[in-house]
Amino acid sequence: MKTSIDKLFLGKNIYTMVAEDDKVEAIGVKDGKIVFAGAKAEAEEKFEAAEVIEVADDQIMLPGFGDSHLHFYAYCQTLTTVDLAGCKTKAEALKRLADKAKETPEGMWIKGSNFDQSKWTDCEDQIPTRHDLDQASDKHPIVIKRCCLHTLVANTMALEKAGIGKGYVFGVGGTAELEEDGTPNGIMREQASKVYDELIPDPLTDPAVKKDLMVKALKDVSSKGVTMLHTYAAEIWKYTEDFDDYQALDDEGLLPVRMTICLDEMFDKPELTAEQLADPERKVQMGTFKIFTDGSLGSRSAALMEPYSDDPSTCGIMVIAQDDLNEKTWKAYEHGLQPATHCIGDAGMEAAIQAIEYTLAKARESGMSEEEIAGRLPFRLIHAQMVNEDQIARLKKLPVILDIQPVFLNTDLHWVEERIGERAKMSYLWRRYIDEGFILTGGSDCPVEGYDPRPGIYGAVLRQDPADGKPEGGWLPDQKVSMYEAVCMYTKNIPYANGEQDRMGTLEVGKFADMVILDRNIFTRPAEDVLNMQVEKTYLAGKEVYSAK
Ligand SMILES: [Zn+2]
Repeated sequence: MKTSIDKLFLGKNIYTMVAEDDKVEAIGVKDGKIVFAGAKAEAEEKFEAAEVIEVADDQIMLPGFGDSHLHFYAYCQTLTTVDLAGCKTKAEALKRLADKAKETPEGMWIKGSNFDQSKWTDCEDQIPTRHDLDQASDKHPIVIKRCCLHTLVANTMALEKAGIGKGYVFGVGGTAELEEDGTPNGIMREQASKVYDELIPDPLTDPAVKKDLMVKALKDVSSKGVTMLHTYAAEIWKYTEDFDDYQALDDEGLLPVRMTICLDEMFDKPELTAEQLADPERKVQMGTFKIFTDGSLGSRSAALMEPYSDDPSTCGIMVIAQDDLNEKTWKAYEHGLQPATHCIGDAGMEAAIQAIEYTLAKARESGMSEEEIAGRLPFRLIHAQMVNEDQIARLKKLPVILDIQPVFLNTDLHWVEERIGERAKMSYLWRRYIDEGFILTGGSDCPVEGYDPRPGIYGAVLRQDPADGKPEGGWLPDQKVSMYEAVCMYTKNIPYANGEQDRMGTLEVGKFADMVILDRNIFTRPAEDVLNMQVEKTYLAGKEVYSAK
């Protein structure tokens, strides 16, 4: 007698991602899990499937993609702002703001997001000032945030609204640039930009608006073949994340993605039973405890050991003192949480490593056994963009996962050598990291970049700007990774960061049936072609959550 199952997928190119080129002809799914992965003849002999789905010969099937680090709520917020991404000139950005001003009552706030002056051809990489924004409108308070989120620019009216005037000094953890006479020029970095997060009303406080935006955005996530998101709150920018929002959507059948919610304030992580963990319909869970060390290279606020090569007056900004970072990391760990630390510059990395070393020493001192320590989830280092040899050697002794953003390189490669000089050779070292034995996960840091995995995979494999395919052969080409390794970063490596590697990430018996069918074989075609890859179908727990047709 044949066993009845829900779905049987058949095809020539079903990649399990267990190992490179590992393929099966058939995947059987029942109750949200994979119950068979093997030969077609065996599957047809054993199973009676309610539905048989053919993966065409030119298509491939893979485990669903993921994004190991993004700010989903913040992304939904940006959907209500003037999106300045894609502007080719400062003039274009100002026009978009001016257009918005025309349809906005005088005196109301206008928020712009995602500006990136390094891509503007008319400003020599100069960040705009209040005077520029005043041209868009001097009758509306305007603030715009850089794509990296670490720099904000306010117009004159917005400065007035915040009571920021002549001689303003922010203090520790942030800066406000001043003009010669001591008047702020509108450029605020790191913590200094916080005042606007408090001042400007968040449109998502209206539950109906929030739900509508989240549902739309989640559908779009599914359409990119993404089935797992690790989303992060960031109190410094008033980015909240709320477990209940996602659970409520799931209860209504509106959540097509597995969500891991990471917070940057202390919380109690619920202990899940074995049964709950094994349930493929459980889509929302709590994740890491996020800690910041520094800013970003794009804003020259990433903390460096030596000054910036293109601005010797600064080493960037450490947003937390080492002692506080140590205590914060240890307290979270002691509380049973998994610390995840943002570090971009080499001094930021140094601080993060010291905090982990401190925490593990404290754990041992306090009587935790080696077995207990080994049983804990790894420390996550988010970005891990710059390192030195000593740091690599120390990292190898620590239980860490590196949550990298390959897509950053697609644009950073144009200016990173100028910004950090020789040290560029010790940045974005993905090949080296893999060879040293680190597990790398792929993330977008959305809304910094989009959650579509394609440009990230492209960046990891080719290390070129997708806009022009330059530099030829790739930037630091010996650091390229293979297509398989890049796809690993966006599929099976992500659950390792969560301790979920036994439940998802590959197409193996017992795992959740989270899968994607793509229109072309990215493993056999030229790597550039990954940008053209189209998602045909996305499945979560065996259910179709997206179809191109
Ligand atoms: Zn982030």
